[in-house]
Amino acid sequence: MKTVFSPRHLGHANQLELVAGAIVPGFELTSRAEYVSGRIKTVGLGPILPPQEHDLTTAARIHRQDYLDFLPTIWDRWTAEGRTGTALPFTWPTRGLRGDVPPEFIDGLLGYYAFDAGCGIVGGSWDAIKSSHDVALTAAGLVQDGERAAFALCRPPGHHAGAGFMGGYCYINNAAVAAQWFRDNGAKRVSILDVDYHHGNGTQEIFYSRADVQVINLHADPMQEYPYFLGHADERGTGEGEGYNLNYPMRFGTDWDRWCQALEDACGKLVAYNPDVVVISLGVDTFEKDPISKFKLKTEDFAKIGERIARLNLPTLFVMEGGYAVAEIGVNAVSVLTGFEGN
Ligand SMILES: [Zn+2]
Repeated sequence: MKTVFSPRHLGHANQLELVAGAIVPGFELTSRAEYVSGRIKTVGLGPILPPQEHDLTTAARIHRQDYLDFLPTIWDRWTAEGRTGTALPFTWPTRGLRGDVPPEFIDGLLGYYAFDAGCGIVGGSWDAIKSSHDVALTAAGLVQDGERAAFALCRPPGHHAGAGFMGGYCYINNAAVAAQWFRDNGAKRVSILDVDYHHGNGTQEIFYSRADVQVINLHADPMQEYPYFLGHADERGTGEGEGYNLNYPMRFGTDWDRWCQALEDACGKLVAYNPDVVVISLGVDTFEKDPISKFKLKTEDFAKIGERIARLNLPTLFVMEGGYAVAEIGVNAVSVLTGFEGN
């Protein structure tokens, strides 16, 4: 399997985030992607290719243009106020406030275009965000050109980013952009299967009223876990999209036996939808030792995920999302891919 990966992700480094009452070094570390690329070389998964530059035309079909225009300007607006460190929001337009008028000042804009304080921006962030987007589209191109599967080793990840907001370490929704690109290049239907521990709220929001992209999420119950405000089982899509959004929320402590029942049911629904291509939002933070998660999947379970996805017998694009037990993230993510390949 070919991997697409960019060293430009390294510019998105040393960003801070707000966790449990403290501003701390972000869990979304540069080493995450380096562990995965290292493991790909160790097991000989296949060549690692650089991304080709893509413009933001496809991204603008699923993200708001004003949001895409804002992202590259954040760091300059921040430093223009004499600030350093990490650009982070601290005020949000929640219920009772106006969410329809973007303010002028940077602090207001950050809150307007974010839903949490887990989306810090530093000097190299935009270049990394753009390269991650390019990685996803370049890997999508490999699948379009006939590869059975390809791996977009994206960093930063994307599935929490909605049409007009960032959050949860995500800025551009790489998997959603890839799905839209497949639609624009001949696929009649695309399925996105999100196996990250956290609900892919951004992906759900983007496609919620559409029938041409099925979105399936297996994740921690939002009653217990981030992102808290989306991801319940009764969210099934709206209008033309009704029935094309499927959520499998699961409680803290979920192990492989329970998790793979949800995967099996999800695969049945996916096959019934009969897509031309499947995009996997590949998070491995379901791992039992993940520092920010509470599921109990073991290393040997990740190959079984890949084996099951392979049996869908569909062109498959894997897009890297979460996974934070840095020492094991490479082994677990690449186990999904080698499991897919039958090794
Ligand atoms: Zn996650």
